[in-house]
Amino acid sequence: MFSFVSFLSFVVKRFGFKLVARSCFSAMKVDLLTIFPDFFRGPLDFGILRRAREAGLVEVSLHDLRDFTRDKHRTVDDRPFGGGEGMVLKPEPIFECMDTLGVAPRAERLSGSARQSVILLSAQGRKLDQALAQELATLDRLVLICGRYEGVDERVSDYLADREVSIGDYVLSGGELGAAVIVDTVVRLIPGAVGNQDSTRQESFTAHAELERDGPSSTCVSGGLLDYPHYTRPAEFRGMPVPEVLVNGNHDEIRRWRRRTALEKTLRNRPDLLDPAALSEDDRKLLAQIQGR
Ligand code: SAM
Repeated sequence: MFSFVSFLSFVVKRFGFKLVARSCFSAMKVDLLTIFPDFFRGPLDFGILRRAREAGLVEVSLHDLRDFTRDKHRTVDDRPFGGGEGMVLKPEPIFECMDTLGVAPRAERLSGSARQSVILLSAQGRKLDQALAQELATLDRLVLICGRYEGVDERVSDYLADREVSIGDYVLSGGELGAAVIVDTVVRLIPGAVGNQDSTRQESFTAHAELERDGPSSTCVSGGLLDYPHYTRPAEFRGMPVPEVLVNGNHDEIRRWRRRTALEKTLRNRPDLLDPAALSEDDRKLLAQIQGR
């Protein structure tokens, strides 16, 4: 009998317990603290993010930090103690906004007993990668604090946020773009957000644990490598044909070609991702062929 229990265990095996547990019972809540709430109108209103919001998989709330100021100019910044260039985002509006959100205490977030995270966007933070996105996608609530000016009063990082996240080794003018990147990356991992959830498991940077779940025959999943090249119709365009192997219908050959091209692309663009110890025997042989050894 294919009962509800076996269905549930299939789904849990497929998507992971934490992801399924959260998405089965409630929408992920995302709070964005910013001085430019209108910035998010575009990023949140298209494609997968819009559909995920409409489907009730994620609930995004925007909080204008100027609403938490007390002076008539709605001041959110001030000069840095000790002198120096630029202005610093003041702590009061951020703390006061947080007071209204009912987020779990920092200690509970840090210990993992609360499935929530308060993230300060910062060039000095841990760099966002797919593993971190997968971790964040298992939580019930994300609060993202967008900095501006020279940065945010450090007490926000020390006493309020439980982590600082950077989206790359460059300096943005504000945290809003970074927050939009995090929301996009995380929400598409929530089961149901992407039409075919399998596609998120065959993408660049997909962790090895995901690969194991697919079994050894699934050689087209990324397993931490970059994705393989994709083609669509027409089969020939302006004298540029798609690789013959993709149109001949031999699935074993297609899988092998995809694995080989994923290895080639990773070697060319991101050799730092190639960990020989984590590669299968087949991968190592393919890599040796590619390198002409
Ligand atoms: N003085 C800071 C420094 O050198 O690290 C840069 C401040 S930046 C001009 C203003 C805000 O943009 C930061 O407080 C942060 O919220 C955001 N930001 C800048 N670069 C970022 C990055 N790479 N990732 C995430 N947020 C970033």
